[in-house]
Amino acid sequence: MAKIGFWLEVIGWKLCHLVRFSRSPLPLSRADLLADISLKMLHHCGIRGVILDLDNTIVSEDDRYLSPEAEAWIETAKASFQLIILTNGKREARIEFWSNRLEIDAIHPARKPFPKAFRQALNRMQLKPHQVVVIGDSVHTDQVGAWLVGCSMIQVASLPHPKRSWERVIGRFVHRRYPRDRELWTVDIESG
Ligand SMILES: [Mg+2]
Repeated sequence: MAKIGFWLEVIGWKLCHLVRFSRSPLPLSRADLLADISLKMLHHCGIRGVILDLDNTIVSEDDRYLSPEAEAWIETAKASFQLIILTNGKREARIEFWSNRLEIDAIHPARKPFPKAFRQALNRMQLKPHQVVVIGDSVHTDQVGAWLVGCSMIQVASLPHPKRSWERVIGRFVHRRYPRDRELWTVDIESG
């Protein structure tokens, strides 16, 4: 089963690469954590805008874990990039909390991978798709959406979260497991 997953992933990446990602100016398509992505590298590659996923990319969907150094990374990124959160989350109060805490506009529910919200984000940023990178943890929402609108994409590992039933079956094909050797930060709601 693991081997089938591996080869499906390889074929998927190859197809994406052939069809659209060959235009990606970025030298990487994956990173363990948001904070592992070099802002200098993004800027050097012509990226001026970042579409960020929220759930399991910045914070786990149960609000238990925060991606280490993510808030500092976002704060630094604001000096050189436009940032927008695109989330399929439906809990309005929670999304508003994180949007306020991170001081980034959020579009929700984004219904990713459908391109409408991605295009809305591009319009708000007044940037072309080749100037924008989508950063998220899910192939079927973030990556496919980025592909549909022609943006680059970097997939990060999913923060640990309670798994839905479908994730137990096919999660391994669309998510990357959070590395065991990386630390996890617990969410400090009080500081928000
Ligand atoms: Mg996500």
